[in-house]
Amino acid sequence: MPAGFQELTGGRGFVGRLETGSDLVDEIERFCAEHDVLAAQVVVIGAVRHARYAYYEQDDHRYLELDSATHHEIVGFVGNISLRDDRPFLHAHATFADAVGATVGGHLLRGTEVFAAEVMIREITGVTLVRTPDEATGLALW
Ligand code: ZN
Repeated sequence: MPAGFQELTGGRGFVGRLETGSDLVDEIERFCAEHDVLAAQVVVIGAVRHARYAYYEQDDHRYLELDSATHHEIVGFVGNISLRDDRPFLHAHATFADAVGATVGGHLLRGTEVFAAEVMIREITGVTLVRTPDEATGLALW
């Protein structure tokens, strides 16, 4: 196994739908906090009324925040839960498609408003994922 990899085991699984008008990031993090999900894989399918996402500028080590009030389908969403500041933290990247199929996407930000969202959370056990500052990237990584 390559250095830095850990073998995981599967834990609990959760599936549910988020309310229209809710915040996609906040609701997933809140659910995980309430159910003591400290590490997980997260998948979402649905649509948003407002998308907020970011592009990480690798040379400058800062996020360029992007915002689209257009209604979009969520056509891709991959995320994980780990611990940051002792709380479950969602790191997700999402792709959003508009009425002509054009896509935008990036690092998902708080402020993305749900129209409809089916969420699947697969808890990961047997590993501890804690985000700490990484000097080479400027990111908080596990
Ligand atoms: Zn990211």
